[in-house]
Amino acid sequence: EEHALSCAGCGIHIQTIDKTKPGFTPKSALEREVIICQRCFKIKHYNEVSPVDMSDDDFLRILNGIGGTKSLVVMVVDVFDFQGSWLRGLPRFVGNNPILLVGNKVDLLPKNINLNRVRNWIQHEAKERGLRSEDVLLVSAQKGAGIEELLARIGQLRKGRDVYIVGVTNVGKSTLINRILHDYGAADLEITTSPFPGTTLDKIEIPLEDGRYIYDTPGIINRDQIGHMVTPADLRALTPQSRINPKVYQLNAGQSMFIGGLARVDFVSGDHQPFVLYVANQLYLHRTKLENADEVFAKHHGTLLVPPNGENGKTLPPMMKHTFKIEPNGPTDLVISGLGWVALQGKKPASVVVHAPKGVSVGVRKGLI
Ligand code: GDP
Repeated sequence: EEHALSCAGCGIHIQTIDKTKPGFTPKSALEREVIICQRCFKIKHYNEVSPVDMSDDDFLRILNGIGGTKSLVVMVVDVFDFQGSWLRGLPRFVGNNPILLVGNKVDLLPKNINLNRVRNWIQHEAKERGLRSEDVLLVSAQKGAGIEELLARIGQLRKGRDVYIVGVTNVGKSTLINRILHDYGAADLEITTSPFPGTTLDKIEIPLEDGRYIYDTPGIINRDQIGHMVTPADLRALTPQSRINPKVYQLNAGQSMFIGGLARVDFVSGDHQPFVLYVANQLYLHRTKLENADEVFAKHHGTLLVPPNGENGKTLPPMMKHTFKIEPNGPTDLVISGLGWVALQGKKPASVVVHAPKGVSVGVRKGLI
């Protein structure tokens, strides 16, 4: 049912039909004196920001709006899935506004990792993608690590301007916003969002001391993310839940490694060498002979080789092969976007084939560790 009402919090058009769409309000709530949408209700009473369903066009319109403002843009990426979490085209949208890059989920990286190296690496990758950032900060929105530094750095870089937080879905933007709301003690936060002209969608505002705001923008879906190809249960099964313990396999040419039923790494030729897997600790890894690998996959996919569990694999895109010649140029990672990476020392040449569902981006990078 449509109502000629708007939310007292964000100004959005109130509707009682679709829970997943903006402006949803349960019918019972229409009796209240002040009507706010369910999303604003949750923000106001639980400090909880829930995602909204919106089209790519809506999102792009919002991003485009940033170009016309004077602001600091904070772009959030997922350090575990840099490739899958990259928001494309941002430099086009933000005009001359400075950008601060935030690598979230740093809690997943192994203990022995050099965080400066990770920051430099992110800076470098950003540049390759045409984005110049003022700085790169690493945080864990979930654990609260690096948040104080982030807020301090935002304070320095914004120079009295507003702040826009942007990112694709699943990078942990909501978790970060909730963390900031929480740390600001903003339980009594007044929701006074002002919609961008031309959109029906609002954004979350967190007031700053000088009358400026931190704005949350809705995340866009990056369809390369493996999370968009599997079921929610399978996504849980492949997502790291805690700090990654690298797993070392000393492989000979002619051996294959299965990463659950989602990827396979064939060591086609080269001298005996370690393959170090950086994937979710709970994922089942299986070593087999390359010559048997097709048969093993056909027989055990969905049972032993999971995720995908059971029949779920049937709806997954077909496996694609990616061939790599690794030269002895030092540490190299074979990255399977969303799933993790396989580190090679790059001391000896190796010929490797990676199988992953079509659409999952697979590539090599300079070793992160
Ligand atoms: P959004 O779509 O960008 O708003 O992302 P969410 O905040 O909903 O987070 C997506 C997923 O990443 C959820 O499963 C979160 O629990 C998880 N997540 C968010 N922040 C962190 C973090 O700092 N560390 C880890 N390990 N997971 C996180």
